[in-house]
Amino acid sequence: MKRENTRSDSRSGRGAQPPNLRILTSRILEFADSGIPRAQFFKELARMMIEFTGCDVARLVLRDQGRAYRCELTRDTSTPFRFDVVSGADRKEETPAIWSQGTAEALERLCCDIIDKQTDPSLPWFTAHGSLWTGDIDSLRLPGLRKSDDESGFGIRIDRDCASVALIPIEARNERIGLLQLVSATADRFSESEVEKCEQLAQTLGVALAHRRLQLALRERVKELTCLYGIARLAARPEISMERLLKEAVALLPPGWLYPDSACARIVLGERTFATGNYRKAVQSMKADLVVDGREAGFVEVGYIWEKPTLDEGPFLTEERNLIDTVANELSIIVEQKQAEAERSQLEDQLRHADRLATIGQLGAGLAHELNEPLANILGFAQLAAKDRSVADQTRQDLEKIVAASLHAREVIAKLLVFARQTTPEKTLVNINRLVEDGLYFLQSRCKKAGIELVRNLAAGLPEITADRPQLLQVLTNLAVNSLQAMPDGGVLTISTDFVDNHVRLMVEDTGVGMSDEIMTNIFNPFFTTKDVDQGTGLGLSVVHGIVTAHGGTVDVESAVGKGAKFTIRLPVEKTDIGKREDRHA
Ligand code: ADP
Repeated sequence: MKRENTRSDSRSGRGAQPPNLRILTSRILEFADSGIPRAQFFKELARMMIEFTGCDVARLVLRDQGRAYRCELTRDTSTPFRFDVVSGADRKEETPAIWSQGTAEALERLCCDIIDKQTDPSLPWFTAHGSLWTGDIDSLRLPGLRKSDDESGFGIRIDRDCASVALIPIEARNERIGLLQLVSATADRFSESEVEKCEQLAQTLGVALAHRRLQLALRERVKELTCLYGIARLAARPEISMERLLKEAVALLPPGWLYPDSACARIVLGERTFATGNYRKAVQSMKADLVVDGREAGFVEVGYIWEKPTLDEGPFLTEERNLIDTVANELSIIVEQKQAEAERSQLEDQLRHADRLATIGQLGAGLAHELNEPLANILGFAQLAAKDRSVADQTRQDLEKIVAASLHAREVIAKLLVFARQTTPEKTLVNINRLVEDGLYFLQSRCKKAGIELVRNLAAGLPEITADRPQLLQVLTNLAVNSLQAMPDGGVLTISTDFVDNHVRLMVEDTGVGMSDEIMTNIFNPFFTTKDVDQGTGLGLSVVHGIVTAHGGTVDVESAVGKGAKFTIRLPVEKTDIGKREDRHA
């Protein structure tokens, strides 16, 4: 049936010649291949349709993976181009195909119905290919246009800017994926042959959109893989530090996003932030958490410095959400591995250090045994000779010096033997709090003289431990004396005890001069001292180390220059000792 609204001279009286069908078809396909962003691509298609048909408004809707992408371009350039994305487009009742602005809401529903094939194609407004067109929208007032309409009719409210309408479905692989809507304020704007040409163009659009979708997916996949490959290469460099790795990883992110030139990125891990050079607070951004050892440890963020049009997730693509999630996941694994490596190498360092101390101890012990006998002879004969009355005064004084020096040497040897654990501890049940009280008794007056405040924080109810009491007293004394020496201008010496993880802990803390990292790595080495010859032998902490390790315990130190020092001794409590809790301080 031919319709009365058909006008074959619809273009008569117009100026510039519109491009012919063949040229337009190849232009559409070219654009689909150019890889321009979706919004721009839609705008270009709408512009071509206005140019080709001479209509006033071109609208496009495309349904893709549960979303509807919609755009509207008006011939009048003062009306802005509109583009947006509606998710949940598979539920057709909730997502009208095209904005209602300028057209009746009923027309919107009609567009949805045409895409969903809910209209009756045998009605006179439809072409053989299922497009609806009319040069007089008022004439659509017939019942039964929509399959679901009742007798009351379709009832379009006529807008004065909308007289001619063509609704042309877009198909890809025999499926309706969208719709092209052409609107003109002029009645009888379109001719039948124009609508047929538009149908051919819509077919090309379907092919172009499907092609573009595949091409985009491929491009995004390449970008994603390039980014992930870069991160995998970083992870494969064992020598690279965590800082360097995260710094280089953050630079790999912007090229993986749709608008690399406006993209900035940052990785936040705990207190540290690694950002691209152009980083500033993004107007639109997406984030993914870094989860290390099951705990949230930071995040990866990619954002745009300039506002971008809406896509799947804000201005971002679904693929970009997948990419940032994968990157965050990969980085979490790398951080976890690096941290485990760092812990392992720290442990190895500690073992090496302990090994070195043990070697020094054995050497020292051997030497001490060798020296003990000749030293005993020197001391014995010097003391004997000094007793001889016939010896001149000067000689006697010299002999006494020999005796004093030999006694000092004997003390050094004794300490060396303790360090080398050559003296077997004689173990009894020891109450650490009582031991601290006894030890501090002798130090109190010295502290007072030096202007040092002595603070005790002794935990009540500690279990007793099996230990050599005099040796532990030696540990406390050595640590406390070091602290006193570190506070020449006064300060606070705090001695604390507690019970943690089956260990009794003894903490000696001062507010003295503190130590540099370099000094701290050497303090347990025998004969290492920073003090004057008459002030220290460099054996105090070696002895502490020897005694504590002989008791199966550990010594830890925390210090910084000018910030004082804290030594923590941990001594294991034997299972049989638990329960023997003292209640003196309870
Ligand atoms: P000595 O006290 O005879 O020097 P130690 O083995 O007891 O030997 O100590 C070794 C070095 O450790 C000291 O010379 C000093 O540099 C440093 N040290 C030990 N305890 C402290 C402390 N509480 N504050 C600052 N430095 C300390």
